[in-house]
Amino acid sequence: AERSYASKNPKSAQAYGQATDHLPGGSTRSSIFVHPFPLFIEKGEGGELTDVDGHVYMDFVSDFTSGIYGKTHPLIRSAIISALDNGLQLGAHSTSESHLASLLCARFPSIDLIRFANSGTEANILAITAALRHTGKRKVVVFEDGYHGSVLSHFELSGSNWGGTHDMKVPFDYLVCPYNDIAGSDRVIQAHSDEIGAILVEPMLGAGGCIPGDIDFLQYLRTKATDIGAALIFDEVQTARLSTGGRQKTLDIVPDMTTLGKFFGGGFAFGAFGGNRSIMQMFDARSSGAISHGGTFNNSPLTMAAGAVAVEKILTEEALADLNQLGDWMRDSLNEAFESKSLPFKMTGLGSINQVHCTLSKDSRTTGLSLLFHKLLGRGYWIAQRGLISLSFAMTRKDVEGFVNAVIGCAEEVGKLAR
Ligand code: PMP
Repeated sequence: AERSYASKNPKSAQAYGQATDHLPGGSTRSSIFVHPFPLFIEKGEGGELTDVDGHVYMDFVSDFTSGIYGKTHPLIRSAIISALDNGLQLGAHSTSESHLASLLCARFPSIDLIRFANSGTEANILAITAALRHTGKRKVVVFEDGYHGSVLSHFELSGSNWGGTHDMKVPFDYLVCPYNDIAGSDRVIQAHSDEIGAILVEPMLGAGGCIPGDIDFLQYLRTKATDIGAALIFDEVQTARLSTGGRQKTLDIVPDMTTLGKFFGGGFAFGAFGGNRSIMQMFDARSSGAISHGGTFNNSPLTMAAGAVAVEKILTEEALADLNQLGDWMRDSLNEAFESKSLPFKMTGLGSINQVHCTLSKDSRTTGLSLLFHKLLGRGYWIAQRGLISLSFAMTRKDVEGFVNAVIGCAEEVGKLAR
């Protein structure tokens, strides 16, 4: 598969060689690397991507969930153009900023007050900072296979201490607990209950493989956080698209803080963190000792305008429900086929956020997934090499049906090779 991939994609191979002259790994995003070399995409339109060799793929990665609108959207396009007429950057307070804030606060009951940032990573760092300042404690509970952003993940993986930034003056330690394991988590949390200021959790593990958090487990965290005087932070950077109020709304669990990102910037760099008034008030510049939180592009007029039109006109209750139903149908259909045909794959996920896993022996899993990925490319479908499959509004039910058939066909071919 790799040999024919190289011969089919000479321009991507060449572009990759050139990119590595100046970028380690050929890009500034480790997560998009593909073995043996990545395809270079020249253009996106609707639900499709065109690479430098002229191949067209239907995009089932959707930029790891942030590309929910497809590559273009007429409403976002016109909102950006109108905003552009009023200036690229204003460096000042603006009503477009408070408008987007009001829309997001209305959607998430857990968010009385909100602040913006430029990435989900930043949002999580700031949420942790606020929670620890508020509680006066220094330990943060995170979970195995959790992902809260590039910077934070290095510290999680090593399980080491992090001094925070000098500006924030909040030294903190991570405690890593097992996800979806109440007894295992409780042992760790109980042993450190006096020192824990924050519990940071994804309601569904995203980069960790689209593993939904059990309701009992998330409710346990809610109760436990209150019992020990810690702030419960839901990282809904990905899962916010599961309903108008994220996964917290569907589960009826109200965390103390919520972090958001990705699509709420209407396609631009974005992050947001918010929560109950008593915590978020610490950022109020009118009070002495307020936490300083700056960021040149935090309230970029283009981002504010694109985000607002997306929330008001595109991410409606009905549109999100339809997209998530389509995702549920896709996952169920694939799982039924994998099971009835005894194919070595399994789907997990919720709604429009999904992951295909290879169920071969541990040593063969990466190869199995990579083969599936390459075979799907051969049929014109693009998924993440690690198996993430995320839907966008640019897809019709027919597109998804075609994709399901292609995945089954490719999985059968991989299954034969594995036998
Ligand atoms: N939290 C979660 C759950 C994420 O999936 C991601 C990004 N994939 C982040 C945080 C980090 O967001 P960003 O890439 O915008 O920094």
